[in-house]
Amino acid sequence: MLDLAAPRITGLLRINAALECPTCSSETLHEIRYVAGLLNQIRCVRCGQHWQMARHAVEEAYLRQLVTRVASKPLRLGLEAGRHPIAFAFSLPRRVVTKPWRIASEVVTVAGLDPSRP
Ligand SMILES: [Zn+2]
Repeated sequence: MLDLAAPRITGLLRINAALECPTCSSETLHEIRYVAGLLNQIRCVRCGQHWQMARHAVEEAYLRQLVTRVASKPLRLGLEAGRHPIAFAFSLPRRVVTKPWRIASEVVTVAGLDPSRP
């Protein structure tokens, strides 16, 4: 079921967690990376061993998520307008202008593209 109230992580998120590393044979600090809210990579900070989600799987999951988000956008906007009409009215112009840039930024992040590289 679609949870319309849940906050969405749309960019790159790195969190640290203590996990058991099979290479180090002990509990070590791991960096867990999410791209657009999807698990992308888990890396042991001590030895560098990492487990990477297949790129096509991340891209496919992102595209599926994006379609759902776009399809549910009018409903989410309506709910938000009903709950906080004044804040919604003031935020709308900025959001409309920045939305294409935010989506493009997500796609670049999910695709693993670096815009600074030629
Ligand atoms: Zn390790």
